[in-house]
Amino acid sequence: MSDETAPQQPISTDENPEWYSHCCTDLSKVKRSGGRIDGMKAILVTASWLWDNGRTITVGFVDPVPGTPVQQDKVKEVVKEWEKHANLKFRFIPNGNDAEIRIGFREKAGSWSYIGKVALEIDKPEQTMNFGWVESTPETTAKERGVILHEFGHAIGYLHEHQSPRRGERLTLNEQVIIDYVQRTQIPPWTEEDARQNIINVYSRAEVSNFSAVDFTSIMMYFMPANWNVQGIEIPPNESLSPLDKAYAFLNYPFFIGTASSDPNVNILNSLNTAKVTGTARANIALEYIEGDWRGLRAEFTRWAVNQRALSDRAQAVSRREEAAAAVAAVAEVEAD
Ligand SMILES: [Zn+2]
Repeated sequence: MSDETAPQQPISTDENPEWYSHCCTDLSKVKRSGGRIDGMKAILVTASWLWDNGRTITVGFVDPVPGTPVQQDKVKEVVKEWEKHANLKFRFIPNGNDAEIRIGFREKAGSWSYIGKVALEIDKPEQTMNFGWVESTPETTAKERGVILHEFGHAIGYLHEHQSPRRGERLTLNEQVIIDYVQRTQIPPWTEEDARQNIINVYSRAEVSNFSAVDFTSIMMYFMPANWNVQGIEIPPNESLSPLDKAYAFLNYPFFIGTASSDPNVNILNSLNTAKVTGTARANIALEYIEGDWRGLRAEFTRWAVNQRALSDRAQAVSRREEAAAAVAAVAEVEAD
């Protein structure tokens, strides 16, 4: 469905399918590491929390609910999708307590994850990720696939797309509707503060250095019933990676020549095209790529993202000035009548 079209009749939250009751908690506000935080265009990433490129990250399952072999296998299988687009390896180790990403399946604890390398700051064997709704039934459902991709998106450094500082251009949230809803549906019930931190508040301009148009199809974007926003736009849950999710994964964690992804379509040209990087920035990124310098590539990509932000801010300022001028002209006309 097109994300631009509002349904004729907004559905009521009480009639929402069961998956609307599943909200993820992004622990980026907790145990924040210091230093500058950089965001990327559209898909929000904090550069200081990204892992080194090509790194093998150990993953394991921990008490009190390490999950059944079926639950564990679902996670192991689904994360391969991220490994296709980001040059990272998830190595599952038998003793979960020693792993860098420590997963549990506590049912009444929601689904959540720490962001990127922040997981390294959490004392072992404390969990760094939880799946509240990945079951032991044999088939991996689309919903389960979606939540595993989403939480691992956090684990490699992605923030919530629906909390982009530019969300307001497309969505105005009905805050009280959301607060009432999550207080009623989440297990355990969310407080107003939880709702504000994980859904309503946008990341501040100090937290992310770029915030272009929101990608409604990102795996990091929340589902949203139509009555959660003034525009009446329903955003169905995203259960696969969007083209921008994939492009940003590559540009932050590039596969260099000789370390290619298992998917031949995952490459530097397709990623730059999808992210719409042009001109000098594109040439500079390509140069870093040829040199095999991932730090340089990330730096060039961030520089491009910051410039895009500046251009977008300028365009908005111009349009605000034009609106103001038009309003003044309209008043002048009325007065002349
Ligand atoms: Zn989340």
